[in-house]
Amino acid sequence: MSASVIDFVATEARFGAHNYEPIGVVLSRGEGVWVWDTDGNRYLDCLSAYSAVSQGHCHPKILAAMVEQAHRLTLTSRAFHNDQLAPFYEEIAALTGSHKVLPMNSGAEAVESAIKSVRKWGYEVKGVPDGQAEIIVCANNFHGRTLGIVGFSTDPETRAHFGPFAPGFKLIPFGDAAALKAAITPNTVAFLVEPIQGEAGVVIPPAGYFTEVRQLCTANNVMLVLDEIQTGLGRTGKLLAEQHEGIEADVTLLGKALSGGFYPVSAVLSNNAVLGTLRPGQHGSTFGGNPLACAVARAAMRVLVEEGMIENAATQGARFLEGLKDIRANTIREVRGRGLMLAVELHPEAGRARRYCEALQGKGILAKDTHEHSIRIAPPLVITSDQVDWALERFAAILTQDFS
Ligand SMILES: *Cc1c(COP(=O)(O)O)cnc(C)c1O
Repeated sequence: MSASVIDFVATEARFGAHNYEPIGVVLSRGEGVWVWDTDGNRYLDCLSAYSAVSQGHCHPKILAAMVEQAHRLTLTSRAFHNDQLAPFYEEIAALTGSHKVLPMNSGAEAVESAIKSVRKWGYEVKGVPDGQAEIIVCANNFHGRTLGIVGFSTDPETRAHFGPFAPGFKLIPFGDAAALKAAITPNTVAFLVEPIQGEAGVVIPPAGYFTEVRQLCTANNVMLVLDEIQTGLGRTGKLLAEQHEGIEADVTLLGKALSGGFYPVSAVLSNNAVLGTLRPGQHGSTFGGNPLACAVARAAMRVLVEEGMIENAATQGARFLEGLKDIRANTIREVRGRGLMLAVELHPEAGRARRYCEALQGKGILAKDTHEHSIRIAPPLVITSDQVDWALERFAAILTQDFS
């Protein structure tokens, strides 16, 4: 690390809450799949800010929309209408085939908003006795960091010493439809689940799981809430990951790439019944649905489609996955992924994934370890074949080393 990097890192450590443990690189510029550090070194970004920068860093069209809107009007609050919200609603509804939209900011807020909405739906439409609504969630879930959400996490680090937590959540294993069937009661209002568990290390459920889940939810009048904050908007090679399963959720949560990394924008998408229960004054957000957010999100959705990023994610994701599978290294336990949401799971004896990520940094690749033994790979969806091959050469070089 150069002197300037050490300075930035030390200052962060002195003043900042230590709730992250970043890799020792200080970034100052980005363009497409590339980012540069303060010393001018270039890296291929294989994290994309946890899939928020799917459209590539500083996409010129999203940037232009943001700057243009920032000159005109940024925030009105929802006390007044603004001329960006209606077109945002129309465009996101048309893109995703949803009927109602609730704009929020962070992903966790979208999840919280969905929890509130499905509970309200449960009491007012399904007829669940007040205060009795149950929501089923999966072990190893990741839905964000707010108090309501961490209360039903199964990760001890996420939960420890943050309680007491809210009741009303029931945990079942992920990928187990029989467990869902057994957990549903007359008071169950929703099943909240990720199509692919991202933070858990890119865990893909067994084929047919979501078909059964959809049937069980429909048969029992339970709202299927898919958290597509990470999997959505092209990441897995389809607009929504639910399309791989041939199903439709009742409630879909989007965030992250909804703004292409420019601004926190999230949304709850639903059929008429669920969001239809919210009346004036019952839910809100000062920044939710603001004109700057809407203008940015409109541009972010537009370039995703117009520039073929979803198809590119499917093509390059397949190439990346095959390439990783071709690497003969006894450090690798498993390679998995869908589209450009990929992970390499290392053998426990191979040492911590963190060491491999630090070594990759030395070769010009930024990737992030997850859960000790997995390296997550999620480059921007604009990556080219040449760039995939360039990355694969470097992954091969590092994964054939032994850092145990
Ligand atoms: C990132 C993420 C969230 C939380 O989003 P924030 O914007 O960090 O609050 C929720 N669910 C999933 C699946 C995510 O990947």
